[in-house]
Amino acid sequence: MTAPPAVGLGVTLSVLAESETASAAQVVPSSPVGDHTSIEDVLAFARRCDVVTFDHEHVPPEVIAAVQDAGVRVEPSPDALLHAQDKLVMRRRLTALGIPCPDWAHVTSRADLEAFGRRVGWPLVLKTPRGGYDGKGVRVVTGLDDARDWLEAVEAVEAAGAGGTDGEHGTTMADGLLAEAMVGFTRELAVLVARSPSGQAAVWPVVETVQTDGICTEVLAPAPDLDPELASRASESALRIAGELGVTGVMAVELFETRDGDGRPAYLVNELAMRPHNSGHWTIDGSVTSQFEQHLRAVLDLPLGSTRSRARWTVMGNVLGGDYPELYATYRHLMARDPAMKFHLYGKDVRPGRKIGHVDVSGDDLDDLRARARHACDYLQGVITE
Ligand code: ADP
Repeated sequence: MTAPPAVGLGVTLSVLAESETASAAQVVPSSPVGDHTSIEDVLAFARRCDVVTFDHEHVPPEVIAAVQDAGVRVEPSPDALLHAQDKLVMRRRLTALGIPCPDWAHVTSRADLEAFGRRVGWPLVLKTPRGGYDGKGVRVVTGLDDARDWLEAVEAVEAAGAGGTDGEHGTTMADGLLAEAMVGFTRELAVLVARSPSGQAAVWPVVETVQTDGICTEVLAPAPDLDPELASRASESALRIAGELGVTGVMAVELFETRDGDGRPAYLVNELAMRPHNSGHWTIDGSVTSQFEQHLRAVLDLPLGSTRSRARWTVMGNVLGGDYPELYATYRHLMARDPAMKFHLYGKDVRPGRKIGHVDVSGDDLDDLRARARHACDYLQGVITE
């Protein structure tokens, strides 16, 4: 999705692709295949670039450091990016900055978890600090038994004095686990900001992210009925985090909307993503500047584009892989039914539950837009046939 704005800006984009059939490799002519965890592969790629950036957070810090040491500009910097790669690092830093976060603790033993559970109550949320996505590496635990395998893995790592993975998702537990109090949120929100190396920053309207089984299925832009004061406080926090961490490019700040002790709207920061993010896909069609164009502008230290919305509401619906692989065959029906709907399919292999595309639709009637986006996603997924 970065390719179209790169073409528009006349920027030569090159992608280190995990395979010849990867989504980006299908549309970016210069897409050498390589392993993003291999210093050798990433260095060979980076040496041909003026500036290197990321579309996911799984490039190991030591690989990024090697690119920097070779004299190639990396944006965002490895120091900033670490806050999106490691949830413990992020919690420590945000807490030090006074940004509202769920109550949390660093857990390296059963005793740590037991003590935290006694303090905040069960159930609580346990997370692997690194490598999680779409809810993988996040577990609601009602007691120590629910966490037995993760705690054993952590204690084994502690005993061996080395890093390790849980094998299932490749999530590293080298530094223990992050435990968080279970937040009774009213809904999930996200703020998207962009910052350039010169320090110019821009923020899009706060959006609502609707989750189903731990996966974002719908984004409403702007978040309906959001308290304006909460919106400006959350936006200010996101801009402040970007500035304090020295972020370059797009950063998404995922939030929980809550109520304070007096019943007033409040928020807690869940996590950070330092790249164009699913909560910002609506900007492709709903904003004057898309997050992908903005990321390029920021990384290249060009003036940032307007984040003004093109319509009162934009609804983004994620298309998840289902049993129905004939995606393009559905276009005839959907495009005829709803000429204002915008489709974005990523050319990914269809696997159940995998995000394989999204639709955007903008207008004045939020309920109508939600129904149309839901219909299109269900039809694309083969859930309905009309
Ligand atoms: P991931 O890195 O997989 O996106 P998150 O940390 O965002 O993981 O957690 C995934 C989902 O789990 C969140 O969107 C939210 O619905 C739920 N969740 C995470 N942390 C908490 C918490 N402290 N309290 C309640 N729910 C949580």
